[in-house]
Amino acid sequence: MNLAELAKQAGFSAAYLLPVPQYDEWTRRRASGAFAPQTGWIEGDAAAAYPWANALLLLIWPYAPLPPDAVLSGYYPASNRSYHAMQTLREALAGEGVRTERAAVPVKTILVDWGLGTRLDSDLIFLPGFGTRFIVQALMAALPREALNYTPKGAPFEACIHCNRCRRVCPGGAIGPGGYDWRRCLRAYEEGPDMPPWVMERMSCLLGCEVCQDVCPLNHFIQPRPMTEAEREAFALEKLLSGDLKPALAIIGKNMKKGGKLTAQAAVLAANQGRTDLLPLLEAQAAQAEGPLKETLLWAISHLQKEA
Ligand code: SF4
Ligand code: SF4
Repeated sequence: MNLAELAKQAGFSAAYLLPVPQYDEWTRRRASGAFAPQTGWIEGDAAAAYPWANALLLLIWPYAPLPPDAVLSGYYPASNRSYHAMQTLREALAGEGVRTERAAVPVKTILVDWGLGTRLDSDLIFLPGFGTRFIVQALMAALPREALNYTPKGAPFEACIHCNRCRRVCPGGAIGPGGYDWRRCLRAYEEGPDMPPWVMERMSCLLGCEVCQDVCPLNHFIQPRPMTEAEREAFALEKLLSGDLKPALAIIGKNMKKGGKLTAQAAVLAANQGRTDLLPLLEAQAAQAEGPLKETLLWAISHLQKEA
């Protein structure tokens, strides 16, 4: 079985095979509140959670940013494609009798611990050849002995040139002299329809914040890609706010709809872009919404009414 070849056929640019990881220090730090609540789904002890597995397969899917005028982070369309590629790979492995399961492990910490990547001042992980713009899909696997060719462990290395560009542009002030503070990072608040006002005021794109990655010189070799016509149509704010989310969800994955997140973020962007023409759509959405989504829609409406 040639794992690297199977991963390539599925569309991944690189694949690393590691032993079942141990990351006690990460688990201790999470318990002390060092990481955002989105890390809650990660298992604290991989060996206990996947006792049948003998390897962790890390699959790398690079992506290019979208142009500055795009309202969408380039990460999400790529993330959805990489998820489907992972499923394709799982089917191929199942065909060879290999059990796999999506791994709930702290992949970026593991990449650093294994000497494959390094953490930057922005808290992003840099991988040689990919910058910080890559998605990691991870599978726990029970491989036959002859396929257990683990990727050699590398030595720790540095890449950050401490230029402070990320620190100067971060809209939340999350990157400070004392390190990165997830509590000030916009990404930590964009999982649901309710976002603190300071986050909403600073949002400049849907589903994430790319600002620290955009300015990082370690990413400057990655050229932006144009938005496709389908992406432009699907993510037009008027389309999202008219309730037609289907084309957008086909691009970024159905789970992005959870709790009205996409509608909420479209409303916030409409407000931040001064789109008073979208007020009727926002009001129609607010009339039928409830709970946190309604609150966010009302925030956007009141923001725009001040401008009208
Ligand atoms: S922008 Fe500069 S300081 Fe920030 S992560 Fe990149 S290299 Fe490091
Ligand atoms: S993602 Fe945005 S808010 Fe978070 S650290 Fe980077 S620039 Fe700051």
